[in-house]
Amino acid sequence: MKATLVSMQTYWCSTFLLPRSIVKECERVLRKFLWGGHGRGKVKWAEVCKPLNEGGLGIKDMKMWNKALLLKQIWRVLMEQSIWAKWCHAYLLQRFNFWTLPTIGLLSWTWRHTLFLRPLSKEHIIYRCGNGELFSLWYNPWLHGESVHALYGHRVIYDSGLDSLARVKDMIWEGEWCWPQTSCGLIDLQQRVRNIPISSVPDSIHWDKVGEVFSTARAWQGIRGRSNVVPWHDVVWHSKRIPKHAFSLWLALHGAHRTKDKLLAVGVVQDAACVFHCGQTETLEHLFFQCPYSAKGWSDVLSLCNVARPILPWMNGVLWMSTHAKGKEFHNMIRKLVFAATIYHLWIERNRRCFKNQEPHVWNLGGQFDHSLTQTLHPWHL
Ligand SMILES: [Zn+2]
Repeated sequence: MKATLVSMQTYWCSTFLLPRSIVKECERVLRKFLWGGHGRGKVKWAEVCKPLNEGGLGIKDMKMWNKALLLKQIWRVLMEQSIWAKWCHAYLLQRFNFWTLPTIGLLSWTWRHTLFLRPLSKEHIIYRCGNGELFSLWYNPWLHGESVHALYGHRVIYDSGLDSLARVKDMIWEGEWCWPQTSCGLIDLQQRVRNIPISSVPDSIHWDKVGEVFSTARAWQGIRGRSNVVPWHDVVWHSKRIPKHAFSLWLALHGAHRTKDKLLAVGVVQDAACVFHCGQTETLEHLFFQCPYSAKGWSDVLSLCNVARPILPWMNGVLWMSTHAKGKEFHNMIRKLVFAATIYHLWIERNRRCFKNQEPHVWNLGGQFDHSLTQTLHPWHL
């Protein structure tokens, strides 16, 4: 499912530069695909868009991904590598410098929005001076991340007696910085550039770190908002997972199952009694752990996995799993598979009783763990 979502998204994002309304529409389609119906999510879209290890489903936020792709265009223009970039220089930039090109006038939507991203890209692009032949003296941000023009304005250009096309090399004489000392600004500049080394290698541009070039994935990592890594990501998204079990566990970890207490609060049901006839209210914590029916299931499951511990409250149980079922060893994989399968089957059993009005089923692990779990365990000859 995720592969389909991501390929749809990557196709759209890399083919077009998307206006906000289109991004919204695409996300609506993705949401509908994920949640069905009207696409009303059980988990916030912002959560879904986080990477797996931060608690999401690893779907890329389209707006951010699109921005990363626009940053790639900026990189290509600056590197002048492609025919498109050369065309940009010849027709869009002409005698202007990329960093000072005005955003007014007859510009295409894409080009204007690319220009709007200049401040963001400047945070990541590093101009490393070499022999000073490539960089514009006034407009390229080679001076500790800023341009001379941005720091000193037009006056300093006038005072220097050079024109606006001057290169950094025009201020280098016999391997030393040599600014004319005709104004305060220029005297200040001579001081300011002292620690910028000059060499005989060509000027170069880098992304984030000297020696690194641009990559869309890295740019995206750099601009997206980050969240803390969740301790349970490996419990859910390990390599042997059964997709529907993993998804159900992921929903449970987000408290997203529509248990009766939630439905009662919005007036969908009239009472919130647990379907397992224990006389208590059905909450997520109750349904999956505290209910005597579930507790009996868990104690069977724990003894099957050779684990002697009491049944813990929900989050403690998850934390226990993330420390005691870590890694790829056989018994840890079994613990993870069984944990997710138990949550899944408890939910299925609850729905069976809720919607089909079927009578209580005796908890029977072997009978309830379906075919998919058996198939997953098959390679280990269980
Ligand atoms: Zn109950």
